[in-house]
Amino acid sequence: MVARQVLATDPAVLADLAAARLGEAAFRRELSRVDDAGFDGPSLMPGWTRRHLVAHVGYNARALSRLVVWADTGVETPMYASPEARNAEIDLGSTLRPQALRSLAEHAAIELDVRWRDLPEDRWAAPVRTAQGREVPVRETLWLRQREVWLHAVDLGAGLRVRDLPEEFLARLLPDVLGAWSRRGEGAGLRLVSGQRSWGADAAAASSVVCGDLPDLVAWATGRASGPTGDALEWVGEGPRAAPRWL
Ligand code: ZN
Repeated sequence: MVARQVLATDPAVLADLAAARLGEAAFRRELSRVDDAGFDGPSLMPGWTRRHLVAHVGYNARALSRLVVWADTGVETPMYASPEARNAEIDLGSTLRPQALRSLAEHAAIELDVRWRDLPEDRWAAPVRTAQGREVPVRETLWLRQREVWLHAVDLGAGLRVRDLPEEFLARLLPDVLGAWSRRGEGAGLRLVSGQRSWGADAAAASSVVCGDLPDLVAWATGRASGPTGDALEWVGEGPRAAPRWL
């Protein structure tokens, strides 16, 4: 029997696939540290227990699988029917037994990986639409999933912290968050600085300069800092303040 191979050949896609698999492994590892009784405990996502979070991560994989199918077949299959349907699904999923939630997360992740594996090289640029309504090439699902699994691995509250996440991931995530703000017309005067690196407004245009380590900047920007205004950050100009909403 011939082993199934990834059909993509673009080195950038393959690197992104490897990064997504690394993130999946991290989520799986953190989840394995939560015992069944721990599913009833809170996650770091406001209002969500770990049950909600695990259901969401599983359903997110299924939703991203639908985008890969869309790219493959050209038949439009959105991530979710509506934001309400997405939330209702998570609420219902959160009532499943821990063992069922574990297998939901596991099987949905495997299905997504198989969809990626079997997507022909010439389909990776096919346009699909995210849950936020943005049109992106389907290869973006590799990045969307990285964001989900790494951040929600932290949100499980099983020990992993934002500062434990790969530097490469954090350095890619921060401009991504700023891009989401600017698409909504938020965070215009913010300049984020970590050592020699900076993001956001030019020095001349900035009304607030936020300085700190990259992990602390990411934790604040994604609403995961120890205090809403990012206790570990230094502010120059306006602030400190909570970050604009990201997603
Ligand atoms: Zn999520």
